[in-house]
Amino acid sequence: MTFDPLAWLPEALQQLERDNLRRQPAIRGSAQGPKIVMDAGERINFGSNDYLGLSADPRLATAVAQSLKRFGWGSGASPLITGRSAPQAELERHLAALKQTEAALVFPSGFAANAGTLGCLAGPDDVILSDAKNHASLIDGCRLSRATVRVYRHLDVTDLRAQLTDCSSYRRRLIVTDSLFSMDGDMAPLPTLVELAEQHEALLVVDEAHATGVFGTRGSGLCEMMRIESLVPVRIGTLSKAIGSIGGFVAGSKLLIDWLFNRARSYVFSTALPAACHAASLTALKIIRDEPQRRALLLETQRRLREELSGQGWQIVPGDSQIIPVRIGEPAATMRLAQMLSERGLLVPGIRPPTVPAGESLLRISLCATHSQQQIERLVAAMKDARK
Ligand SMILES: *Cc1c(COP(=O)(O)O)cnc(C)c1O
Repeated sequence: MTFDPLAWLPEALQQLERDNLRRQPAIRGSAQGPKIVMDAGERINFGSNDYLGLSADPRLATAVAQSLKRFGWGSGASPLITGRSAPQAELERHLAALKQTEAALVFPSGFAANAGTLGCLAGPDDVILSDAKNHASLIDGCRLSRATVRVYRHLDVTDLRAQLTDCSSYRRRLIVTDSLFSMDGDMAPLPTLVELAEQHEALLVVDEAHATGVFGTRGSGLCEMMRIESLVPVRIGTLSKAIGSIGGFVAGSKLLIDWLFNRARSYVFSTALPAACHAASLTALKIIRDEPQRRALLLETQRRLREELSGQGWQIVPGDSQIIPVRIGEPAATMRLAQMLSERGLLVPGIRPPTVPAGESLLRISLCATHSQQQIERLVAAMKDARK
């Protein structure tokens, strides 16, 4: 072969390297948990989204083992062809109960739920208003829909209102937002978004990936906590974060779920998850219902940790959640700090573009209900030393 069609790759990767944006793969040799074994050694883990410490809970493993005996592992085909497994159907009923909607649909992942849902709720005649810091999967869902996309400034309802005002000629208007933002750990002004959606006859779509299991009396998320649950017609979530399992879901009316079942391409054209995954998710939902102390403890602890770190002089992005972002700015400085913490036995990921905008690189501390006081103190001590 004389022409190498991938000859541009070495230079492209070197450019990432020069910009401090090249990711290095790491290997994990243990279960997920407050302590994990990486190839660099044992680390206290402030990197995972396993906020309630359920991913390695033995009750989930038992549910998986039991499910395997009846359903085996693989699921064979799209749920439209060989059916939803009984555990998937039961999980969907439980998710609808958690979210207090008529129905729910489980996708292979949260990414697939966002991409597939937006892709079939909007089209070329429509406009989607999207928060500037929405998750990549929402952004890709917007693109897949081929609707006009208008990005409004992060959390800025004045900007959103202004943009909505000249969107009245589109067939449909959608407002799309994370509820708890994945990198900045701050919250969308959901009650105002509900009002704006009503005033401008727009459909509000809320992604509760990081809030489900953590906020609200039932642990349903920020829509529950802000008491607007019944006013958000499309509620998306993932089973892979606080729920400690795998999969994504959409909760809403029976008609909505029927439409997604028929038209969401990431659902229709993707093999269903193994039944064992749904069995694990179902068990986790029951734990979330029965053990509210996990989320109460998590929210209490994050407040203390935020105070400690602010007191040390770090710039913490304001918020009231288990995602605690320490703003650093440039990628090189961010990665140096992450490396320093790693050498002290702490895994705290540095987050760089394209995950965050240029100039907003940060250290993302992700707190779990199962972190011990001593583990948190080790982080506080290391962060204090890093100020010197
Ligand atoms: C993680 C995340 C997703 C994707 O969920 P997966 O189940 O990991 O694919 C979607 N939306 C937001 C806001 C997320 O943070």
